[in-house]
Amino acid sequence: MVNATAQRLQNFVGGAYVEGVASFEKHSPVDGSLVALVEEAGAEQVGAAVAAARRAVDGAWGRSTVAERAALLRRIADRIEARFEEFVAAEVADTGKPLRQARELDVARAVVNFRSFADTVSATGLDSFLTELADGRRALNYAVPRPLGVVAIVVPWNLPLLLLTWKVAPALACGNAVVVKPSEETPSTATLLAEVIAEAGAPDGVYNVVHGFGPGSAGELLTTHPDIDGVTFTGESATGAAIMRGVAPFVRPVSFELGGKNAAVVFADADLDKAVAGLGRSIFTNTGQVCLCTERVYIERPVYDEVVAGLVEHARGLRLGRPEDEATTTGPLISVEHRAKVERYLATAVDEGAEVLVGGGVPDLGADLAGGAWIEPTLWAGLHQQARAVREEVFGPVAALMPFDTEEEAVGLANDTRYGLAAAVWTRDLERGHRVAQQMRVGMSWVNTWYLRDLRSPFGGVGLSGIGREGGTHSLHFYTEPTNVCVQL
Ligand code: NAD
Repeated sequence: MVNATAQRLQNFVGGAYVEGVASFEKHSPVDGSLVALVEEAGAEQVGAAVAAARRAVDGAWGRSTVAERAALLRRIADRIEARFEEFVAAEVADTGKPLRQARELDVARAVVNFRSFADTVSATGLDSFLTELADGRRALNYAVPRPLGVVAIVVPWNLPLLLLTWKVAPALACGNAVVVKPSEETPSTATLLAEVIAEAGAPDGVYNVVHGFGPGSAGELLTTHPDIDGVTFTGESATGAAIMRGVAPFVRPVSFELGGKNAAVVFADADLDKAVAGLGRSIFTNTGQVCLCTERVYIERPVYDEVVAGLVEHARGLRLGRPEDEATTTGPLISVEHRAKVERYLATAVDEGAEVLVGGGVPDLGADLAGGAWIEPTLWAGLHQQARAVREEVFGPVAALMPFDTEEEAVGLANDTRYGLAAAVWTRDLERGHRVAQQMRVGMSWVNTWYLRDLRSPFGGVGLSGIGREGGTHSLHFYTEPTNVCVQL
């Protein structure tokens, strides 16, 4: 099947669209139709992109002021808003996510990402110390932030534009030039963003896009390029490890936002209606394909049955369907390959003794959608803590529901993972809420909510979930290198 709007997506290098060494097909996860033919960058295109970025950093862009860069970011935000529906259509074509979600979350957040980092960079001062030594010498120490230089940005497919602009905005705010490698599953919005950034007046070479895959393709070519100055990556933990090995010989800084196996803890005193609604969001948003999604729910025994019943009802109420259908709550997985992985976990969970409370397979949505990557929202009971389905990231609309008896036990179970990205605690006892949230060995811990973000706050994970934090001034620290100047007075 060929979509009438299928297009050819090129690489964007030094301000111009360029072809690659081969092309690959991007198919819709909704029905398998062809969305785009994508030009795959080879060593020559990746090298040219890095060189163009270097020229930008060494040229006028490298001498730009904070005010000029903040103004550029605001113009980019305005241009995304002006072409809002184009971005929505591109994101939906690649991912199959509901139109409403693309509007309210993905593209809306892209706009906010640029405005927020324009504000942050404008308001951030320098670290300075008036130094007074015992022998009477005095000095002024101040640290001047310099751009990192050429930043490689490698991003995944789940929230493509949101996660890309989360990195592009602060990188440009700090005066870097970037080479972006979007996921092979979601090449469209990164390409459209190139047009918008150029329209907003960014000099050639400031924003470059190279398309392709990971190993042996544009991803690896970019992250192992000797002339990049740092890598910021969002994706799987195993990919982060591979990228780390690739940059090790060059001793480059990395910022990693990786996988998760996130827990939620529901205490018996929680507002159960709110908890069930919140868990419904945290398990099933984006078909479970958000790094922050909950895949383990620990429920205090007295309310276990009630919470389980509420969640099963919630899952049954989800509507799978075409993105443009107003009634649709839940899209497909990103690809039939990813669905095969999720299906393997569905089978593993059953082998490990799971009782399937709802879902558990591939739905029949009719011939029209038979070529898509659809999967049923699934809840498991009866799994033990050592089960693979409880320990490994599935990245689909699934969760294991498990009872607990004491606060200490709940904290221990939630922290019994090699990941450490996000947690959510549901309780009316705020003292306990603070206490338990602080004991979670994660980067982000929510109380009575989930995925409520202040872009100035630190975002990232511990353990297998990542290295470093981005967000607000945390991002500015990654995308700059301070030079400390000491002047004797
Ligand atoms: P992935 O790691 O397979 O791919 C991510 C990107 O890395 C893609 O662009 C891919 O082409 C590229 N890549 C793959 N191998 C590479 C290599 N060897 N060298 C260089 N680049 C390479 O991840 P995915 O399947 O696209 O995304 C899902 C994963 O992302 C999940 O694990 C999810 O938890 C994680 N994620 C984390 C966050 C976070 O903020 N912590 C946010 C979203 C997604």
